[in-house]
Amino acid sequence: MPLRSDWSQRTCSMARGLDILGDPWSVLVLREVFFGNGRFDAMKYRLAVADSVLTKRLAGLVEAGLLSKRAYDDGGRTRHEYVLTPSGEDTLPVLNAVAIWSEKHLRAPSDTAHMFVVHSGCGRRTSSADTCTSCGQRLTAANTSWHSLTRTPAPVQLATAASRATTAQQNGPAA
Ligand SMILES: [Zn+2]
Repeated sequence: MPLRSDWSQRTCSMARGLDILGDPWSVLVLREVFFGNGRFDAMKYRLAVADSVLTKRLAGLVEAGLLSKRAYDDGGRTRHEYVLTPSGEDTLPVLNAVAIWSEKHLRAPSDTAHMFVVHSGCGRRTSSADTCTSCGQRLTAANTSWHSLTRTPAPVQLATAASRATTAQQNGPAA
């Protein structure tokens, strides 16, 4: 992603990962797709971001293999939405960890400015990014919800990756 100097060849895997996941807008785009909000206009509304910024991040996340584009019919017109790839879905513990760390260590500007990670299986909030701290089950997108108090009255079940076959077809070496 050409947002800063290229860290993709750094010797440390943390630095290489931050080349993609160190960009706040890119992480917030992933948040929206996990929330099931993969269409450009809906993301733009939620993120209150300029078209050019959103376009650049979406292209970067597709190029890096975290998102893929999927066609949908919009009243007879074919448009595209963004869905998670397996690589994108694997960022879940990273995003969970950011929210959990912020809830623990950063002051919230209002009583409703909170986002909790909830294990859908038992319905309890977790304070660990990859395991439910209430029942011990490993967290995946399929069994995790996020509850943003400013966003919805109840937790929202997360989106999972589009099928691997579809992803391979859209992100294959021929592209
Ligand atoms: Zn649980």
